[in-house]
Amino acid sequence: MSEKKYAYLEKYGIFRYSAPMNEYTSFKCGGPADFLITPAGYDEASEIIKYCVKENINYTVIGAGSNLLVGDKGIRGAVIRISEDMGIKGKIEIQGEFIYCDASVKKTDFIDFAVDNGFGGVEFAVGIPGSIGGGISMNAGTFMGTYIDILKKIRYIDKSGNLKVRDMSSTDAHYRHMDLDDAVIITGGYFMLPRTEDAGLLRSKIEDIINDRKFKHPWTYPSAGSVFKNPDGHQSWKLVNDSGLKGFRIGDAMVSELHTNFIINDGNAKAADIRRLIELIQKTVKEKFNVDMHTEIKMIGEF
Ligand SMILES: Cc1cc2nc3c(=O)[nH]c(=O)nc-3n(C[C@H](O)[C@H](O)[C@H](O)COP(=O)(O)OP(=O)(O)OC[C@H]3O[C@@H](n4cnc5c(N)ncnc54)[C@H](O)[C@@H]3O)c2cc1C
Repeated sequence: MSEKKYAYLEKYGIFRYSAPMNEYTSFKCGGPADFLITPAGYDEASEIIKYCVKENINYTVIGAGSNLLVGDKGIRGAVIRISEDMGIKGKIEIQGEFIYCDASVKKTDFIDFAVDNGFGGVEFAVGIPGSIGGGISMNAGTFMGTYIDILKKIRYIDKSGNLKVRDMSSTDAHYRHMDLDDAVIITGGYFMLPRTEDAGLLRSKIEDIINDRKFKHPWTYPSAGSVFKNPDGHQSWKLVNDSGLKGFRIGDAMVSELHTNFIINDGNAKAADIRRLIELIQKTVKEKFNVDMHTEIKMIGEF
């Protein structure tokens, strides 16, 4: 694909050719994307989709990159990044009975907005990095709940570049996955939250959750959070731990000693090292416990 082909898209946002994906992911590894663009707005995002479809350009949508392992050879085609930390401020506002929040907004800003305006029901989302769009797409959450508990509608761009709105219900939601039908880019979510009686108490609960996560997770190292979904009836961290793989490393990819469902980048890990470690864990757990482990993180690009 010649660079000329992407030149048409340059006017639609902040762009970069040969964008090193280690700079756009929390794992801090991965090779270059041919062309990466953060759209200036959702009309622009829609134009990008239309052009990619017309010109047969492969495109990959990402948020803040906190759940991704990008291959060392990078990503062919265009990466469309819906994240506000490159200068485009997202919108959060109360609209009637809903809080509307743009997909690019950081989850922490959404939580702050909700609590500042007297709402609760956001405890499940505390401490999860990334964007609201990534949270919706992954149905991110914890044992306290997931996005679908508060999400009522999404705004999105479909495969033809049309901007649409649709209702969301619990039947669309699965364990770290949301059925999005024809939505290729989520542009925003409409949330319904309960009023909180005591904002002070909620704030201190949120602080406790953050402290607890800092204590249990290797948050000072690059990672993508929990690597594996919990198989039915099992906890992934325990399966990895009981397989004797705590602290095991391949290159600079290492099973965290603090939380064995995290793989950390302890220096200059290659995506291939992380992937080999994932495969080794899957093989070992299968042999020892006859349990299949499936990844929660998304592996994208060429390895
Ligand atoms: C330290 C750490 C702790 C974590 N803890 C948790 C946790 O407790 N619970 C949990 O669920 N996750 C956790 N995660 C994983 C991750 O933060 C979440 O999955 C998060 O919701 C991903 O958001 P993101 O914006 O970074 O999305 P990305 O990682 O950029 O993308 C994830 C997926 O969402 C899609 N996507 C992103 N934005 C859009 C959009 N606008 N439209 C359409 N598709 C989109 C991408 O295509 C991709 O498939 C953790 C990660 C880290 C690094």
